[in-house]
Amino acid sequence: IKEKHRNNYNLFDSSISENFKMRLTMETELRKALKQGQFELHYQPQKNLNTGKIVGLEALLRWNHPEKGYISPGEFIPLAEKTGLIMEIGDWVLYESCKQNKRWQDQGYEPVIVSVNLSAKQFHQRSLVQKVKDILADTGLDPQYLELEITESMAMAHEDFILNTLHELRKLGVLVSIDDFGTGYSSFKYLSLFPITKLKIDKMFLNDEQRENKAIVKSIIHMSHSLNMKVIAEGVETLEQLTFLSKARCDEMQGFYLSKPLPAPQLTKFFVE
Ligand code: C2E
Ligand code: CA
Ligand code: CA
Ligand code: CA
Repeated sequence: IKEKHRNNYNLFDSSISENFKMRLTMETELRKALKQGQFELHYQPQKNLNTGKIVGLEALLRWNHPEKGYISPGEFIPLAEKTGLIMEIGDWVLYESCKQNKRWQDQGYEPVIVSVNLSAKQFHQRSLVQKVKDILADTGLDPQYLELEITESMAMAHEDFILNTLHELRKLGVLVSIDDFGTGYSSFKYLSLFPITKLKIDKMFLNDEQRENKAIVKSIIHMSHSLNMKVIAEGVETLEQLTFLSKARCDEMQGFYLSKPLPAPQLTKFFVE
């Protein structure tokens, strides 16, 4: 028995340290990535369904790893959150996307809104509003062309502080949307209290195999409009989905049917000069 325990213990011990080593390696690599400029932003266009114009771009983070190639955010953002590195990465994303958006405007393209995903830690930091203000001042981007995306759970926690942050962001003139809407637990009452400008319907509701999804999408669109919010559907992959959304009076769409996320130089074909 003693022998067995010892073996188990050793096994357990070594698997913990393996795991730990892997995390440590990744953490070191993430730091290096930030320093050596291995992060990139790709932008996915968003189209207004009434005018047919491109009105926005969602900035999506990519890690261009020297050996492994592109690594998707789903693989490294959770660790970046855990280690706190997300703060620096997030600052970079915010700065870079504002700078790029201003650059396009300076090149004479019709202005579009750039939307930036915020992680929970970023959104809950005390200095967020000041940071956003500084970045807008530094890059010269007009606040009306910046949208911050938060999730339902980020908005619904710690009511007073969050409500205050949202009001201050809106006072700055920045837009705020709720990402992956419908996957969390926000109530109509909360939504009506929060100064949110747009809801982003989660792509899971576009799956036509579940018949109730159509009803859900319609009611989210209806609710957004009755709360004076815009509504966008993401993950649109087919013409059928697009037609349904247009008929249901959804304001905007985003998805592979229009374009996948692209590096900045490839986007100008979507812009009007
Ligand atoms: P998200 O914010 O919900 O972003 C949408 C995801 O859906 C993106 O994945 C996008 O590439 C993908 N997508 C777009 N159109 C379609 C479509 O038609 N069909 C399908 N199946 N997928 C589509 P991506 O780029 O891998 O990002 C994954 C998640 O990582 C994002 O989900 C977001 O939560 C997070 N993320 C990305 N960039 C950042 C960032 O800069 N900061 C933070 N905190 N999170 C980020
Ligand atoms: Ca998003
Ligand atoms: Ca989303
Ligand atoms: Ca998501």
